[in-house]
Amino acid sequence: YMLHDQTQAAELERTFIAIKPDGVQRGLIAEIISRFEQKGYKLVAIKLVVPSKEFAQKHYHDLSERPFFNGLCDFLSSGPVLAMVWEGEGVIKYGRKLIGATDPQKSEPGTIRGDLAVVVGRNIIHGSDGPETAVDEINLWFKPEELVNYTSNAEKWVYGVN
Ligand code: UDP
Ligand code: MG
Repeated sequence: YMLHDQTQAAELERTFIAIKPDGVQRGLIAEIISRFEQKGYKLVAIKLVVPSKEFAQKHYHDLSERPFFNGLCDFLSSGPVLAMVWEGEGVIKYGRKLIGATDPQKSEPGTIRGDLAVVVGRNIIHGSDGPETAVDEINLWFKPEELVNYTSNAEKWVYGVN
């Protein structure tokens, strides 16, 4: 019935989140994961990888005409990136809220970039900007078998349904 459908919807929405090399090197992995975890979202995939420049270009293909594209792809491929998939109701849009505006000078305090970053070229985190990019980015970064299906013990408390 209806409550059951809400639970299903919550389980279906997934977004791709990555801590970029600056966030990893600054020791911000635990802090950033905590924010998604404490909100009530469920971690379904995670790995530490150094992407190649070609891979970074694929990830940021939408920005290939922008002047910062080459430097951005060099940077993303310069060191370890923590790639993750997070799941939950509204996680794509609300994940972007948790992250804050692209330019940390404009990110609100309380957001990840607002609290932890200063300049746009070192804004520590990536998050998918919509449902289509979320699917594309999850498929680019993860094989299907790397996505872990499990029931979170917290779910019935986060969503208030059984
Ligand atoms: N970026 C940059 N200079 C700019 C705009 C963006 O270096 O003027 C970088 C920044 O790291 C940003 C990434 O390019 O996170 C991707 O840009 P996008 O507009 O997709 O921002 P995001 O979705 O990450 O907020
Ligand atoms: Mg973007």
